Amino acid sequence: MAAAQKSLGNIRRNFDPWNDPAAKPLIEFDHVTKRFADSVAVDDLSLGIYTREFFALLGPSGCGKSTLLRMLAGFEEPTSGDIRLGGTSLKGVPPYRRPLNMMFQSYALFPHMSVEKNIAFGLKQDGMARSEIDARVDEMLKLVKLEPFRRRKPSQLSGGQQQRVALARSLAKRPKVLLLDEPLGALDKKLREETQFELMDLQQELGLTFVIVTHDQEEAMTMADRMAVMRAGRICQVAPPAVVYEAPTSRYVADFVGNVSLIEAEVESAAGGLAILRSASGRIETETAVPLAPGQTVAFAIRPEKVRLSRRAPEAGSANTLTGTVWDIGYLGDVTLFNIKLTDGTLVRSTVINAARVASEQIAWEEEVTLSFARDAGVVLAE
Ligand code: ATP
Repeated sequence: MAAAQKSLGNIRRNFDPWNDPAAKPLIEFDHVTKRFADSVAVDDLSLGIYTREFFALLGPSGCGKSTLLRMLAGFEEPTSGDIRLGGTSLKGVPPYRRPLNMMFQSYALFPHMSVEKNIAFGLKQDGMARSEIDARVDEMLKLVKLEPFRRRKPSQLSGGQQQRVALARSLAKRPKVLLLDEPLGALDKKLREETQFELMDLQQELGLTFVIVTHDQEEAMTMADRMAVMRAGRICQVAPPAVVYEAPTSRYVADFVGNVSLIEAEVESAAGGLAILRSASGRIETETAVPLAPGQTVAFAIRPEKVRLSRRAPEAGSANTLTGTVWDIGYLGDVTLFNIKLTDGTLVRSTVINAARVASEQIAWEEEVTLSFARDAGVVLAE
């Protein structure tokens, strides 16, 4: 048996057209800029999204996610640059002539119409024959499992059911691409999680391309094949979730996606993929793919689940063992979060999984502890 290949994190499915030089993206943003009177919402952005991809745009409020989606849908025109679909420019093509559909956070359902009329609305407007509409509505109701609710009005449905009506309505015209702007924002956490998996199943089943805007990183990580982390109208990193999480390319991305501790350090030496860093709290030996020069100032970023916590004192001079004091403890049930203050005041977080119901060795506030981690546990960030 061949040895298992080492890779970053788990992958959801074997789908990576972005690594195939022969594959052409379905959607192309080509140096797109969008200026409003007093601000630049999208700044010279280029990006390709592939057929059947589940793509997530992630970023803080105001970073330009919705504007990007609205330009793709045709509700806004770029100030400069071009957007292409299947190689053809969308310049001047009105929204209703684009083979894509947008589902809004508010769902925008018609309150006076029943579920089936809501779903049929767009088809009727397109002049589809009555029998064909009926068949399509039936198909959609079945797809989103709303058959028993077909005659109800939106106000007689739960939030999750309304979300599914909106989804059915946007899928009824069989668009090539579905654009989803915070589609699960109105749902509570449990329902949100369930719906995320339903959306993923639907997307697979229908073979569609999904572009979703969200500010919820867990949502993006759960559903997307790739995600783009945005900041001030630009993309900082585009990659599959596991790569963004395990190999962020900047402090901003490391900090925005998941929890991370950043330890300021200076490069002592770097050769053959191994770097020795010197921090105020101790020596760090780490594998790295980033080119580094001795004397350079960097941040060593490490995720809390990769930091081990113990009471044992470190051996003198050993690398990757830092000492500190327990500063905060947060018990979350499944895991406990420890914030450890290093000697120079840096806070490093460690997550301990509560695998046993009864803890034998409880670490308490203000205890002296040792943190340790493997050579491949963290990343060096020069940016
Ligand atoms: P959120 O998560 O809050 O929805 P977002 O990332 O989707 O944020 P956008 O809605 O794309 O952000 O807005 C990007 C920037 O463009 C913001 O500074 C916003 O104020 C500005 N903007 C968006 N639409 C308009 C408009 N119609 N006129 C003027 N400025 C706008």
